Amino acid sequence: MQIQKFEYNLFGVNTYIIFDKSSREAAIVDPGMVNADECKAIDDFIIGNSLSVKYLINTHMHIDHLFGDEYVMQKYGVGIAASTDDAILSTRISEQARMFHLRTDISDSLTISTPLKDGDRLRLGKEEIEIFAVPGHSPGSIALYCSESGFVITGDALFRGSIGRTDLPGGNYAQLISSITNKLLTLPPLTVVYPGHGPSSTIAYETTYNPYL
Ligand SMILES: [Zn+2]
Repeated sequence: MQIQKFEYNLFGVNTYIIFDKSSREAAIVDPGMVNADECKAIDDFIIGNSLSVKYLINTHMHIDHLFGDEYVMQKYGVGIAASTDDAILSTRISEQARMFHLRTDISDSLTISTPLKDGDRLRLGKEEIEIFAVPGHSPGSIALYCSESGFVITGDALFRGSIGRTDLPGGNYAQLISSITNKLLTLPPLTVVYPGHGPSSTIAYETTYNPYL
């Protein structure tokens, strides 16, 4: 599996495209695009690499991770794959926008058409993405693990040297620490961590140096 990172919007959200090299099937993860230039960068990458978009996956339904959801849905004809445990967020987008003093023209409610839960697997060609439930930053936060390629997309659960905030609606600190400890730090140490914000890391680095763990 190949992975490409894009950094978008005023929150500096990492949007990822992951794809299987032989089948060219792709997933767009956390589309954070807020303007035409940001959308064009995604489209150019898809076209330039002859990819076919099979999934739109949200690691969780905070507004900064889904600004570009409707664009991807319309452009590529895919629905949202995410945990329905985040329905409390996906059905209250204008409330989230107000909380961050944002104006947004996206719908107040986005429908999760492919509900994902712990242990689910999505296929891109012959490769698999394994879904881990990692609640705590939000109730429905998930991580996407590609074991053959040795990387995990952690959303806002785990960052390089930090962890997700737990003061937003549905956040739970004890649950977040438990998710990270039991679901992420148990992965092979050389697994590369691709977080929802900031630079990448490894499980070994976080186990040794993350001051929050
Ligand atoms: Zn978040």
